[in-house]
Amino acid sequence: MYANINDEVLYTIAKIIGGDEAVAIVKEMKNGEEFTVEDLALRTGIRVNDVRKVIYKLYNHSLVASRRFRNPETGWFVFQWKLQPELVEGFVQSMKQKILKKLRIRLEYERGHEFYHCGNPNCPKVSFEEAMELVFRCPKCGGFLRPYDNRPVIEALEKKVRELEEELDQ
Ligand SMILES: [Zn+2]
Repeated sequence: MYANINDEVLYTIAKIIGGDEAVAIVKEMKNGEEFTVEDLALRTGIRVNDVRKVIYKLYNHSLVASRRFRNPETGWFVFQWKLQPELVEGFVQSMKQKILKKLRIRLEYERGHEFYHCGNPNCPKVSFEEAMELVFRCPKCGGFLRPYDNRPVIEALEKKVRELEEELDQ
């Protein structure tokens, strides 16, 4: 059922969306069963209100779906929640798309600019334009700014972009 999604990816996403509590809740839901918020609170030891908050966050990202039924004893509606692994996959894909877009922008920037650096690993690289404004003095340590070879950065970015493109089949 979770062929395309390994647990690690699932927990990472849960953590991004709702922190450690979301991870604990997703672990309980992973087997594909339906749960009420109260079930999940009992199983995880997390307070009902906090479980509800996490479930709504997961719901906002379409990672869980709900089914409503009427409790025959009380007559009240009860919601049961279920993980939607196929949408987890969609979430991963859309995150990768966003990362790819950012990497491409960064790559274009690196390709299109010359950089200067003082040589101190704790200081920032600056663009040629910034270096001109700074009269070739490092903004942090005051050292002399020299041309910085950003080819290794470009190569690393190109590699990452290629990997993501392959994963996304583009
Ligand atoms: Zn410096």
